[in-house]
Amino acid sequence: MLKVENLTTRYGRIEVLHGIDLDVAEGEIVSVIGANGAGKTTLLRCLSGVQPLSGGSIRFRGEPLTAAPHKRTGLGLGHSPEGRQIFTNLSVEENLRLGGYSRKGATREDIAEAYEMFPILGEKRHLPAGGLSGGQQQMLAIGRALMSRPACLLLDEPSMGLAPLLQKQIFDTVEELKARGVTVLLVEQNAYGALKISDRGYVMETGRITMSGPSAELVADPRIREAYLGV
Ligand code: ATP
Repeated sequence: MLKVENLTTRYGRIEVLHGIDLDVAEGEIVSVIGANGAGKTTLLRCLSGVQPLSGGSIRFRGEPLTAAPHKRTGLGLGHSPEGRQIFTNLSVEENLRLGGYSRKGATREDIAEAYEMFPILGEKRHLPAGGLSGGQQQMLAIGRALMSRPACLLLDEPSMGLAPLLQKQIFDTVEELKARGVTVLLVEQNAYGALKISDRGYVMETGRITMSGPSAELVADPRIREAYLGV
């Protein structure tokens, strides 16, 4: 579905990703875990096209991925960015509608499906999105990304800033996306939460992938347990 080879990128003259290799097969949940500043968000920005590559390549569904960012959504690559970036003055439903812009607007069925997944959003459909709790705003960000009917969804730190119970709810949602046939690349600082629901994981440190493998193996690895799981 997604294949990243030897990807490098820079901010100004400073290289921040140094040759990333990563792949995601159709139907998988793949996590990228790592500390703050490791380069996870930058990697997702490269995939969604808002950050230019300085080397390497990305393939999506077998084709080189070089389209402009807004066209990537239309190709089936959705992105739920860091910090959610919902429109707080618009209503919940207006936010969802905007998520379908790459297909000339979300259909009534798409919106109904989002409310089925997140009933609380249906209850608050006419209220300003700014009044939602953090967890609800994250649900809205995911719901909005689904309006473009992505084959693959890039999720940037969906559990960030949420209480443990809400984090669990968000991770459950990501599993449900998989059950609905969406492939997910999940970037997370909550390594345990992410690995628990993933098929495979990558560990990122200062712009490099330092470990990768099936999530169960990573969770059992003493180095991961000490550095990321606090065990
Ligand atoms: P976070 O948990 O904060 O999202 P991250 O793993 O996603 O962390 P990035 O945000 O991708 O990390 O940052 C990778 C590196 O690039 C860091 O050293 C960061 O300071 C630097 N960086 C990020 N954005 C910029 C920018 N716009 N200009 C210059 N340097 C940047």
